[in-house]
Amino acid sequence: MNDAEQLSATLTELEDQYIWDADATYAAAVDYEEQARRLGDERLATRARLVQANMLMRKGEIAAAAHRIWKIHHWATDHGDTLVQARTHLVWANIHRHLGDAAQSLEHSVLAVELLDDTATAHMQVWHRAKLADALGAAGSMEAARQRYAQAEEFAVELGLPRLLMGMLNNYAYTEYAAGEHARARAVAQRLQEVAEQHNFTLDPAVLDTIGAIEIENGDYRRAEETLREAVRRHHEGGYEDADALAEFMLTLARAQRFLGATDRAQVSLDTSRELCVERGLGDVLVRVHQEQAELHAARGEFAEAFAVHKVFFAAHNALHSSQREARARTRQAMFETTEARQEAERFREQARRDPLTGLRNRRYLDEQLPRLVGSGDDLTVAIVDLDHFKRVNDQLSHDVGDQVLVLVAKVLETELAAVAPDGFVARMGGEEFLIAMPGTTAPVATGQLDAIRRAIRSYDWSALTHGLPVTVSIGVADLCDSPGTTQSDLLSTADRNLYVAKHAGRDRVISGKPRDGHVRSYRNGATAA
Ligand code: GH3
Ligand code: MG
Ligand code: MG
Repeated sequence: MNDAEQLSATLTELEDQYIWDADATYAAAVDYEEQARRLGDERLATRARLVQANMLMRKGEIAAAAHRIWKIHHWATDHGDTLVQARTHLVWANIHRHLGDAAQSLEHSVLAVELLDDTATAHMQVWHRAKLADALGAAGSMEAARQRYAQAEEFAVELGLPRLLMGMLNNYAYTEYAAGEHARARAVAQRLQEVAEQHNFTLDPAVLDTIGAIEIENGDYRRAEETLREAVRRHHEGGYEDADALAEFMLTLARAQRFLGATDRAQVSLDTSRELCVERGLGDVLVRVHQEQAELHAARGEFAEAFAVHKVFFAAHNALHSSQREARARTRQAMFETTEARQEAERFREQARRDPLTGLRNRRYLDEQLPRLVGSGDDLTVAIVDLDHFKRVNDQLSHDVGDQVLVLVAKVLETELAAVAPDGFVARMGGEEFLIAMPGTTAPVATGQLDAIRRAIRSYDWSALTHGLPVTVSIGVADLCDSPGTTQSDLLSTADRNLYVAKHAGRDRVISGKPRDGHVRSYRNGATAA
């Protein structure tokens, strides 16, 4: 395995990891991005950045994650990289879920599944479907969610991914629970416990919390208390750092104990949860702690206290929601600014390569494109088009009329060229001089087409603008095929010399060939002159 393959395999492991230590994974991904850059591998660097975005999202840095995800998404789309696209949409779906936008989350979850192809890993096949099911459930489409869970479950069994199976069953149970489908939630939780036993897995504390909550809803308060005590024990044993999780477990435990009538035990659990919330600034959990406290007072018959705490709960609830709204607005702003900035840059890029008077490509564009066309090795014809006696238009009419003539000539050139050479383009080189590039064409073919363009200019109805003063052009042609090794400057000076010949031969004509060899071909009114 070479370095790039090694790094790719390492990244896949990180991407397909089910349980994340966000800080450590983020740090590793930063390091891998560096390695990818040293290898000069843009795709690996992009994948490493996607892992970083995912970790930022998990760490709650939603705006920073959203900012990165745009660029990754554009890279993946530009490169038709469906694997990276699918993973990007999944992270995006999670970002929207955190922002409380179920519709957007669902949209991205759908794409994360639609984009799965045979390059997708087994992990993705299962997990992307499970996440789509989560999003469907959150959006209230329970039947569709169940179908997707069933599919994900089938894949997980078939592909031999029991850990992932546990993960998705946990989400499945939680989705049923959140939808108020307590009997179904219990059935899924049952299956989850069976899978754990079958594979000798100990259940995650977070899974136990879900199971405990389901037991409470089903009236199994005593079992729920045991389950939650077990969750807390495993949390301490497992060395989990996640204080959010512990605060949640203590809160669920307090609920179970309240229903059991063990209000003193419930108060102890609730106090522990509250302390953790304050210590770690867990606003959303604290709101629910207040709510549970009010319920606990009420259960003890302390209605005045219950009422007072309820007021605290509502104030905290509203504050939390407005701060969530603000966070949401900030993230949207960050996303918007990125698209805006990108569009702005593109607009600027585009504008800088256009001539403001005629809207044609300009010299700068030409200087960028010609070397590519000349270097490609394919056929190429260029023609320099110069207006005849244009000074007269300016002098006898006005500079303004001259401008209008230039605009119309540009239009005719562009329209006529598009009809015969769709790959070609017209640029304004400056003044009343234009350049036509016709890739994939040789001069003998192009010259006839250019003569048709010349005639189109001549026969355009100029009377309203120039009051009888004719508008014609002279055209000098050159192509790449005559002599191999022709440079861009050879090409342009041949065209220029041919233009000079056309002017001296009486204007309003097309000249091609190599002037020095004497094989000059002049086109005028469709006739070829030697
Ligand atoms: P020839 O047939 O030999 O090309 O004669 P000509 O009069 O076209 O050539 P010359 O190069 O002597 O004059 C070109 C004129 O084009 C001079 C200049 O004032 C005018 N011109 C250049 N740029 C513009 C422009 O943007 N607008 C207008 N109205 N005139 C322009
Ligand atoms: Mg001129
Ligand atoms: Mg000129």
